[in-house]
Amino acid sequence: MAVFSMHKGTHDSFCYLCQNGGCALACDLCPRVLCSEHIEQFKTIPAQDRASVRFVCPACHVIIGRSRTSSTSSLRDAIQRAPGAPYRAFYIEVNKKFTPYFANPVNLTTEYHISQSARVNTSPIFILHLRLECLEEEGSVASVFFHALKPYFANEDTIHLHYADVPFNLNTDSDAEKHRRLITTVVEPLSHQGKARVLVFVYTHSHDVHGTLYYGTNLASQTVDNWFDVLFPPDVRDVLRVHDTSLFMLCCGALVNTTQSYQALKGNCATLQIRRLIAFEASHFQAALTVSFFLGYAQKFLIENVTFADMHLADLLWQSLSLGRHSRVLLMQYNPEDPSPRVAVSEYRWIHKGVRPWGYRLPIQCPSCHGLFTFKNKEELRGAIVSRCKTRDCTYSQTFNRPDDTVVLKRPEGAWMKLGRE
Ligand SMILES: [Zn+2]
Ligand SMILES: [Zn+2]
Ligand SMILES: [Zn+2]
Ligand SMILES: [Zn+2]
Repeated sequence: MAVFSMHKGTHDSFCYLCQNGGCALACDLCPRVLCSEHIEQFKTIPAQDRASVRFVCPACHVIIGRSRTSSTSSLRDAIQRAPGAPYRAFYIEVNKKFTPYFANPVNLTTEYHISQSARVNTSPIFILHLRLECLEEEGSVASVFFHALKPYFANEDTIHLHYADVPFNLNTDSDAEKHRRLITTVVEPLSHQGKARVLVFVYTHSHDVHGTLYYGTNLASQTVDNWFDVLFPPDVRDVLRVHDTSLFMLCCGALVNTTQSYQALKGNCATLQIRRLIAFEASHFQAALTVSFFLGYAQKFLIENVTFADMHLADLLWQSLSLGRHSRVLLMQYNPEDPSPRVAVSEYRWIHKGVRPWGYRLPIQCPSCHGLFTFKNKEELRGAIVSRCKTRDCTYSQTFNRPDDTVVLKRPEGAWMKLGRE
């Protein structure tokens, strides 16, 4: 693809360095785009050359410069394989070989606003909000999530960012049938378009004891499987399986804290082929405390398109400390393309030596002397943390052992600094 011939759908809409729109340079090797102003020499390329000049973005230049493997693309071969190689940006084909267009390296005149290899990924996103009718739509996680993504899709066709709020209050078979017809129509556009990123938010209550989910304001399902069968009718399942679907369960922790419901949730993750499923453990779950987590999620994983790996998840969790204090986070992942696909589950807990030893909640009140906030914690043998009541004459203590198979996720680098100003 030559400079100035941006193709919607194959390339991002916003400059990956400054996040502005109206970019003119589309990378020939990846979906990133760049404002032409960022490269000084661009304006000196005569109009008649612009159609044949090829452009390689700074991210591709760095990635290819560091790689050892030889490539099959002749444009890639033109890039100097050396870390720190001077940036050339533009290439031209001469006798079936690409060479830099300019005799000298080009000058890049901007800084990184986001991480160096991020993107501004505006490929199609479809948000489906399955919400128990009595729970507010306004200010809900799904609605805030949608509005935060909107600015990135301002110039796109409306189909690229789609939000559907589907409230339900199903008390009879005919309610269920109405829901089936409604949701089938809602997801219908997804059945005739290329792969989209589908995000399903489920916002309902779960039964305190059984962890089953609510169909209606006062009606819990018999089992989690029943609930999924009614809320996701067969046609909807077929559609979800085709796309890159994530499912966010915004409901009280009983869903994942009772064995039967937890297993059923895992089972549905596999049958619906959900790539990523996130659920919360807090027994009295507050969706509002997850807003910063989901806003960060939208920015990082959907827009910047960073890989869904612990390193990036750790960064996101650090930004969501209100969530850390409130709830553990469960992540289920399923990849239908694996040779033998299975649901892999990880749990993320916020730990703090003083107040959350190995992620366990300390009681506010000492069970022995009834004093409030009286515990002092100390790390002892093999990482065990011992909480002792500091009230005079009280000997109460409790030991928290480090659970097996745990990794403490590294805190991302960087810090805020405060400066005094006149
Ligand atoms: Zn590129
Ligand atoms: Zn820019
Ligand atoms: Zn609830
Ligand atoms: Zn005590």
